[in-house]
Formats: sequence, structure tokens, C-alpha cells
Amino acid sequence: MVDRAAPEFRDFVELYERAPLLELGRLADAMRWRLHPENVVSYIIDRNINYTNVCVADCKFCAFYRRPKHLEGYLLSFEEIGRKIEELKALGGVQILMQGGHNPYIPFEWYLDLLRYIKRHHPIHIHAFSPSEVDFFAGRFGMSIEQVLRELMTAGLDSIPGGGGEILVQEVRDRVAKRKAGADRWLEVMEIAHRLGLRTSVTMMYGLGESSADRIEHLFRVKEVQAKGGGFTAFICWPLQPEHTELEHLGKTDAVTYLRTQAIARIVLDNVPNIQASWVTMGMKVGQVALRFGANDFGSLMMEENVVSAAGTANRTTLTEMQRLIADAGYVPKKRRQDYTLLPEAA
Ligand code: SF4
Repeated sequence: MVDRAAPEFRDFVELYERAPLLELGRLADAMRWRLHPENVVSYIIDRNINYTNVCVADCKFCAFYRRPKHLEGYLLSFEEIGRKIEELKALGGVQILMQGGHNPYIPFEWYLDLLRYIKRHHPIHIHAFSPSEVDFFAGRFGMSIEQVLRELMTAGLDSIPGGGGEILVQEVRDRVAKRKAGADRWLEVMEIAHRLGLRTSVTMMYGLGESSADRIEHLFRVKEVQAKGGGFTAFICWPLQPEHTELEHLGKTDAVTYLRTQAIARIVLDNVPNIQASWVTMGMKVGQVALRFGANDFGSLMMEENVVSAAGTANRTTLTEMQRLIADAGYVPKKRRQDYTLLPEAA
């Protein structure tokens, strides 16, 4: 439990709300240099593969999903997924980020067969199935979280993305994502995954009408889980993309809120090694500035992105442009592996 009355908690809320923007940036930047003394900004070449858009969770902020039986609902075949991986490999990609809706028509064997198929025919690092999906599998197939994870790992799962974290405060989730893993459950999946040896990323999507204290609580809870297992490799935050969703009335938050939020995350999460800038939602220029507000990673070249673009936000780049953006911001761009280690120059 996070004690919101504790002086440390109140200090962080105050810092987040009141510190001048550049002061917040300076503190985050100092933490970034303490953790990453080299003048390097990493990036990865990977591809989002959304294996299905059929979902029964009905999150109010989601423009991507379709209800069962909707004409636009889809489930990718193994061959289609294999083709996407080969296209990615041709560009030097090293990982797929595979997530999907909570599709009630898919049996557990399908997921296991898919992982085995990929490892056998298109071997690549598989970063897949967010805690919300893992929780959905456990409920649907009558298994424990640990059983689900063990079976997925045996079939080929390499690491877990931090999708579906949104704001890890139950009252907020009850308003916008009632049918999805709750805050405790989401963190429990991550804790078990770390115990089993899986590395994971962790995210925060803000702008759901939550308070500053809710955002700080989210960060405190992440820090607490990290202190136990140490399995979070990176934190990524981005604002709600409200277009075409039930939360359209909330509007988009601005770049300053993004920079403040990422900066406070860098300061609070001193035990999470990497912070990824979200240029996909914020655009390239804010992405560059984010490198002075705590981020040491520019995320993914992102060959394919379906979720944010469904909500009307479409930022794209090329490898050359990505390298130039990092260099123009004053850093040496370096391609990395899925575990954030840097690849040799020629790779
Ligand atoms: S965010 Fe994920 S779980 Fe929620 S409705 Fe969209 S696809 Fe389903």
C-alpha cells in the first residue's frame, strides 16, 4: 500500500506539480547521467504485431478493438505473422512486440502453437502478452498466473511488455477499464514474471482524469515491485490519445505535461534502468526534448503500429531520420538489443 500522507509521497507530488519545468528537467537529466554516463541514446528496430483486435474488455480509451462478431474483427494467421517477422528481419529487426485483444474465441493451445511456430520457422526475440492478457488467459483457461507464464515460456516467450498498465490506481481503472486486470493483479503478474526470470517493460498512460497523486502512486507501486524482483528493464509513459474513443471529451494533454511526467518518473524510478521517449505519441520534436528530461532511449523504429494510429495519432520515421534526430539532439545513436545492451556497430 502506498501511504499518500507520507512526507516523501507529498514531496514528490509537490515537485511534480510546482517545480519549474526546467528545474524538473535538470533533476531528471542528472539522474539520467548518473545511471547512463555515456553520451549515447539507444533505439531498437522492432515491429508491433497485434495478432487480434477482437476484445471483450471494452476499455473506454481504446479505439483499436472490435467486439466479437464485428465485421472488422480479425485474427492473424501464423503465416501472416511469419511474413511480418521476415519483413522485419530484412530491415535488421531484432524483436517483435506482440499483443492483442482479449479474444474469447482463441484456445490456449493457439498461443502456445504460435510461439512454437515462430521459434521454429522465424526465430526472433518474442516480447509478448501484456499482464492484462496473461490475466485474461488465467481466468479464461482456469489456470494460475504462474502456470500460464511457465507454459508460455516453455513454448518460446522471451519477455513481457508493460501494456495495459494505464494508471495503477484501482479507482481510476474502475472508471475506464473495469473488465481488465486491476492494479494489484497487473502488478502481481509482473512480480511473478520477474520471479520466473522474465524481464518486462512497464508503462503509464495518463490523462484519464486522474490526479497528480494518482500518477505518483503509480510510480511508487512500480518502484516497490522493482525493489523485489528487479525485472523491469524500462519505463515508458504517454498521454491518452482520446480521438475515436469514449473519452474523447477529455481532450489531449500537452507537451509540457508529458515532459513533466516523464521527468518525475525518471526521478522517482531510480531503480528502473531505462526511460524510453514516446515520440510515437508526442512527435519527433518533443521526443528530442524528452532526451533532456530523463529519457536515454528513443524506443523503436516501429515498422508497424496499430493501436495509437487507431486513435488518430500517426508519427512515422525512418532509420536515417531516427539516427539524425538523436544526433541533432546531441547524442550518439546506438542500435540496441531487446535487453537494452548495445549492438556492435556493424550489426
Ligand atoms: S486496450 Fe486492450 S484490453 Fe482494452 S479494449 Fe483495447 S484491446 Fe481490449
